[in-house]
Amino acid sequence: MLNNLNREIYGAGDIIFKEGDAGDCAYLIEDGLIEIIATVNGQEQRINQIGKNELFGEVALIDHQPRTATAKVLEKAVLITIQRALVNELLEKTDPIVRHLLLVILDRYRNKRGTSQPQSIVQQLDQAEVTSKRNAIRGEATQKLTMANDIRRALRKDEFEMYYQPICALSSGRVAGFEALIRWRHPAQGLVSPLDFLWLAEQTGQIRELGLWTLERSCRDWPILRKATNFALPFVSVNMSPSQLTGDSFVEDVKAIIARHRIPPTELKLELTETVIINKPEIALNLLNRLTDMGSSLAIDDFGTGHSSLETLNRYPIGTMKIDRSFTSTMLTSAQSKEIVGSSIRLAHSLGMDVVAEGIETEEVRGKLLELGCNFGQGWLFGKPSELKNISPAV
Ligand code: C2E
Ligand code: CA
Ligand code: CA
Repeated sequence: MLNNLNREIYGAGDIIFKEGDAGDCAYLIEDGLIEIIATVNGQEQRINQIGKNELFGEVALIDHQPRTATAKVLEKAVLITIQRALVNELLEKTDPIVRHLLLVILDRYRNKRGTSQPQSIVQQLDQAEVTSKRNAIRGEATQKLTMANDIRRALRKDEFEMYYQPICALSSGRVAGFEALIRWRHPAQGLVSPLDFLWLAEQTGQIRELGLWTLERSCRDWPILRKATNFALPFVSVNMSPSQLTGDSFVEDVKAIIARHRIPPTELKLELTETVIINKPEIALNLLNRLTDMGSSLAIDDFGTGHSSLETLNRYPIGTMKIDRSFTSTMLTSAQSKEIVGSSIRLAHSLGMDVVAEGIETEEVRGKLLELGCNFGQGWLFGKPSELKNISPAV
């Protein structure tokens, strides 16, 4: 992609392009002064003078017509050229909603110019043989926009619910805490899995509001849930998504929520995946330290599926490792999975962390995990995620 971005230096008086030239790139002025000259009534006239940070020649990116003006350097200029090929490439990779909007705008632009031959950066998408591709983009964009709108409505109408799944001490089976898992009670589709909508909320930024809602609801429910635990240090474990951690006010928001519900910070555990750390390591370290300073603890979720290094685990204030279900569910049949589970447990313990094995469905798996020294477990063997009203107090 960088091949399509060049920096060029021009001296005063240089012509960058002439009226009538074929155009295949635009220019961004990093420094210098450019005059734009056009022929009006047979006479050359200066129609504009532009400088630093301004863009010119951009029509060439959307229209293969010859240049309609001349660009001449007034003062030594440093220009960044933007090739049409780059725009094509970016357009291919961009979000379907943005792409769809851009295509509509380009269509309007072409209609306004009245060009009979629509030759533009979307030329390849425009031709008959790719009409279906364009329809697919439109379909995907519409679907996403509808769903994003549905999520907004669902937040307003209180259609989200929290389900809670027990996390148990492996040896005694005592309930140590609960993981909070979101569900969407959709008016038409019934109960919708988080896997079907969180990815979009993540893309649209709605995950921040949704994330605060899950935390608020989990804290509100905790005094009742807590009665269903029988462990010295009970906890509620709430999932955090990567973009929540980039919000400036995240730590303050968490503090305000737990203060409002009078939750001891030590009883709140926040689960994060390795991507949180990998994307923004320094910001994450700062935020995570602030969260643990106030007394809450952190769990690294889906361990084994990302790329956490020993250094990451050591440098970040993580108190719990959650071993992903893909390993526990296959550890009886795959020697490799069993080895991964075993070495993860040893690694976690050597770093002073607790271990929760996820997705335990059978007594055999629980027995094997106990042999390997795992302390906590979560899975259908102990209980499926359920609504608060179906969770009974511990006896
Ligand atoms: P996760 O954090 O790894 O949560 C565990 C998932 O495994 C849950 O799926 C749970 O229902 C499922 N599970 C637990 N035990 C078993 C078992 O024994 N067998 C099988 N087959 N599955 C089991 P769920 O509730 O569909 O959630 C899926 C993912 O969605 C979660 O994976 C988490 O990444 C995300 N998620 C759920 N709720 C929230 C939330 O409130 N906020 C955020 N950011 N993410 C959430
Ligand atoms: Ca989790
Ligand atoms: Ca997990």
